[in-house]
Amino acid sequence: MSALGIDYGGTHTKLLLVDDGGAVLARETVPTGTLAELGGAAGRFIDASPTPVRSFAVTVAGTLDPSNGVVGRSANLPWLNGVAPAELLSEQLAMPGVAVQDGEAGAIAEARFGAGRGSGDVFVIVLGTGIAGAHVLKGSVHRGAHGGAGEIGHVPVADNGVRCSCGQRGCLETAIGGQQLGLRWSERGAERQDSNARDVVEAADAGDEAAVAVLDDAARALGRAILNVSAVVDPALIVVGGGVARSPEWTVEPAVAHARTEATFHVLPEVKLASLGVWAGARGAAAVAADVLARAGAAVNRG
Ligand SMILES: [Zn+2]
Repeated sequence: MSALGIDYGGTHTKLLLVDDGGAVLARETVPTGTLAELGGAAGRFIDASPTPVRSFAVTVAGTLDPSNGVVGRSANLPWLNGVAPAELLSEQLAMPGVAVQDGEAGAIAEARFGAGRGSGDVFVIVLGTGIAGAHVLKGSVHRGAHGGAGEIGHVPVADNGVRCSCGQRGCLETAIGGQQLGLRWSERGAERQDSNARDVVEAADAGDEAAVAVLDDAARALGRAILNVSAVVDPALIVVGGGVARSPEWTVEPAVAHARTEATFHVLPEVKLASLGVWAGARGAAAVAADVLARAGAAVNRG
């Protein structure tokens, strides 16, 4: 038997099949379409499966109410707003399925099969346009009593005084969010406007002092965020991924060095780079799909 993970991305959708033991059986990338088109593509993928597919999970890039699977707002896939995608796909595919927030799926995959494999207590930080965080305990995300746990991007750790989209000043996101790095570089007199994280890193590599200063501020803020995570959560391991972490020499490595220097009472856990890359979301979704089936089986057995 196998379980299907669907990573429903803005332009491409990844389909990935895992067996009972979590081993990957098949994978395919298709262009992103409507939910009905996704159902068609998933149906063809399932028909070609070497073993019967019993359940699925689909990622949602946006806000998701975990109690009913309804999408609040998805910036890239607006047709999902107010819709319960797993419910509709479930009818089309004739099998149980759930929706999972995309960041959560990626964090679950990194914690279980990627850099966090074997730990069971991993805090995952994803440095993208926005900053996502998730505490994955024994393979599941600890969301907190009100679903707000893990919001490491909105912990004020930077000295820049910049007002964040959340209303606070100096959030981690204002210092190291992909777009924010470009803005901070502009404020320091960069000739280029509308630059992104990669531009800032390339400029720093070429010796641009303003870009180096921006990345130093970013690493310092990330170092404080790592200290805060260890002070509040004390995980066995911190895993850092996302586009901005792809230049660890400018971001994660100096951040860990800052954290070690500034630590007082803190017990710093090991900090590792994420290892699964672009398939993390689909892999995590497949793991969630397998869990759905395990829970359903347990319920039947209890009955
Ligand atoms: Zn904020």
